[in-house]
Amino acid sequence: MTQAIETLQNWMDNTGNIVFYSGFGVSHESGIPDYRRMEANHFDTYKYPVETILSRPFFERKAELFFQYYRNRVLAPLLTADPNPTHQKLVELEKADKLRMLITQNIDELHQEAGSRKILELYGSVMRNNCPRCERFLSALDIYERSTAPTCDVDMCGGMITPDIFLYGDALNPDILNNAIYYALTANLFIVAGTSLAEYPAASIVHHYTGNKLVLINEEEGPLDHRANLIIRAPVSEVMAQLTVNPTP
Ligand SMILES: [Zn+2]
Repeated sequence: MTQAIETLQNWMDNTGNIVFYSGFGVSHESGIPDYRRMEANHFDTYKYPVETILSRPFFERKAELFFQYYRNRVLAPLLTADPNPTHQKLVELEKADKLRMLITQNIDELHQEAGSRKILELYGSVMRNNCPRCERFLSALDIYERSTAPTCDVDMCGGMITPDIFLYGDALNPDILNNAIYYALTANLFIVAGTSLAEYPAASIVHHYTGNKLVLINEEEGPLDHRANLIIRAPVSEVMAQLTVNPTP
């Protein structure tokens, strides 16, 4: 165990007020590819940049192409992914009453699949899909298995089933964002993992932390590194697997 991980272990042992903020890197370690970094490859197939395809106007105007992309590039890898040691350790921390809140940028519900219950999803979840007219629910698998854009099949409804996820150009849900800020503001130990904190407003949450135990676990450098009290440059699950959940004294 390195000195940095020992410090983190020590901070964890001494508080029952941990807030953990998980970024895409945590999902990536479960084998989910970063579709934003496969740009060249998409462009040949879909003729639009990913920021255009995964935007609200595109969803509204070109639903068939949106869902074709969404099924193949977003849903397919999520539906076969399993939780990793990070997801599991967070469940242990919650059960030991040490984790006050888990804030996540991820839309795959791997945290919930592992057993996390206290969670704020900044960008929504692909698992929740509803008709905006009649609330008819479809699972992610239902959507994946359809070969066309999923219109609502209740009577004559015909509404477009809408995934509850953040699309480019959307504002973050203000209630969830404010809640996340509240937990950042009142955390004793704030651990941010698997994100370089380069995107706003998701990164702004970190600015609200007022304590002196901000831990960043990420392989890459980021613009908020200077605010960290401890930086660990390693895969998140490698770090989390080494930590032991001990009762708070
Ligand atoms: Zn409907």
